[in-house]
Amino acid sequence: MARSDDCIFCKIGRGDIPSEKLFDDATAFAIRDINPKAPVHLLLIPYAHVEALADATDEQAAAAAHCFEVAPAVARQAGLAAGGYRIVVNQGPDSGQEVPHFHLHVLGGRPLGPMA
Ligand code: 5GP
Ligand code: ZN
Repeated sequence: MARSDDCIFCKIGRGDIPSEKLFDDATAFAIRDINPKAPVHLLLIPYAHVEALADATDEQAAAAAHCFEVAPAVARQAGLAAGGYRIVVNQGPDSGQEVPHFHLHVLGGRPLGPMA
């Protein structure tokens, strides 16, 4: 079976795990991070189970790129347009990536300071 069977973000995307989708289109959805690192901490996730960007097919890379394309609208909807926001993508062990399904973190709602 596909690796997505055990993937938490695939399960949320499929609705197997209920979660409020703050944004939803044919390609991607946004949810609140369960362990927020800022007053607003959203995850923008493609429905497709995209693992490492380095190994992505053209179709998977397009799904990841779509997340960047819609991020400004998602951030605006979350009230971050005026104050700004940070987009983070973790890739691989040194980044501390916990969930091996591509996603953008969209953080804001206070001055975030320098990146750690
Ligand atoms: P990563 O370290 O992979 O870049 O980020 C994964 C993020 O997913 C973490 O910030 C973590 O708090 C969040 N997360 C993990 N499991 C769940 C979940 O079941 N629901 C939600 N909303 N967020 C989750
Ligand atoms: Zn997945």
